[in-house]
Amino acid sequence: MNVTTEIKEAGFRPASRIASVGVSKILQIGARAAAMKRDGLPVIILGAGEPDFDTPDNVKAAAKAAIDAGDTKYTALDGTPALKKAVVEKFRRENGVIYAIDEVTVATGAKQILFNAFMATLDPGDEVIIPTPYWTSYSDIVEVCGGVPVPVPCNAAAGFRLQAKQLEAAITPKTRWVLLNSPSNPSGAAYAAADYRPLIDVLLRHPHVWLMVDDMYEHIVYDGFDFVTPVALEPRLKERTLTINGVSKAYAMTGWRIGYAGGPKPLIKAMAVIQSQATSCPSSVSQAAAVEALNGPQTFLKERQESFQRRRDLVLGRLNEIDGLECRTPEGAFYTFAGCSGILGKTTPKGKRIEADHDFSDYLLEDAHVAVVPGSAFGLSPFFRISYATSEAELVEALDRIERACAALKPC
Ligand code: PLP
Repeated sequence: MNVTTEIKEAGFRPASRIASVGVSKILQIGARAAAMKRDGLPVIILGAGEPDFDTPDNVKAAAKAAIDAGDTKYTALDGTPALKKAVVEKFRRENGVIYAIDEVTVATGAKQILFNAFMATLDPGDEVIIPTPYWTSYSDIVEVCGGVPVPVPCNAAAGFRLQAKQLEAAITPKTRWVLLNSPSNPSGAAYAAADYRPLIDVLLRHPHVWLMVDDMYEHIVYDGFDFVTPVALEPRLKERTLTINGVSKAYAMTGWRIGYAGGPKPLIKAMAVIQSQATSCPSSVSQAAAVEALNGPQTFLKERQESFQRRRDLVLGRLNEIDGLECRTPEGAFYTFAGCSGILGKTTPKGKRIEADHDFSDYLLEDAHVAVVPGSAFGLSPFFRISYATSEAELVEALDRIERACAALKPC
């Protein structure tokens, strides 16, 4: 049930801005799986959007030192000078992009960066082009901020990547932003320089369209993939691009809630206005921890990347051996996004026909006790997302169960 309907039934009148926004499907599935687990069922949850590693010790130590040093008060509105300096340095060192201190901003997670940016720029009816499959929060945040999400389906054959012709066709006089995420949650697809170029050429022809890029999974790429961010490829886009990143995924710091971005000064200032009335500033202790994450040793990133790659190969290999499923090789992130069209129309041992990907994910949860997220939650069907940020032993067991569950289905 839509959350607004539920709230209204309880006699409460919610604001119309949340009318079409629901609690994330991912969180709903996670909650259902967790409840089944509490009831003693051996559920394996492959839905988590966070690394299974711990925050590095040097980062924890920096946070403890910050507490002991009394670094426990409000900070500068959109980031301490030390963290902004570390962010500027990160963009220079890792992306070859030069931002000034007043061209970067820090917020309570990349999610708040997105929220600040859309709140600060969208008027009712303004459109945001979002290639699907997309991280569910994108369209919900756009709607909460009064904008209109314009989903553009990007299929597996196109590598789940937006094509220049599609972008050109989706642009209207009302387009304010196009939002690209590489590597992607949920598909794991990433844009190489050659994939970005034709899109950049389209954008150069449409100066009223701004570009928002979410580089959150930059450090989790495989097979030597050469990560690049659009502004590094095309400096002319810098004056209308917001480059978003954060410490959540690379440094296993999801709970610390620090995200950051680089962009043109007037946009950064407008975003600070929103933040000033929302949170006043990000957490002081978390900012101190993020400084250490960005400035400290980076060698562990490679080890973690190798560990994720082993798990990606394991999951990918097993999925592609299962009759009815197919999965393209993701370039990054810690998700596989497998197609399940070969399963549709089949009947479960309990006699339920699988009509759509959410029926398949329900079947996997109820009968095989494996929690995955259906493609419909990300705007593209019929697919399902597995997060492989869990132990290899659990992944093997989950894939054994998925294989058995698929084999138990009766053909159409
Ligand atoms: N961007 C993408 C693509 C994500 O998958 C997520 C979290 O799942 C975020 C941003 C949010 O990151 P943060 O924890 O910094 O809010």
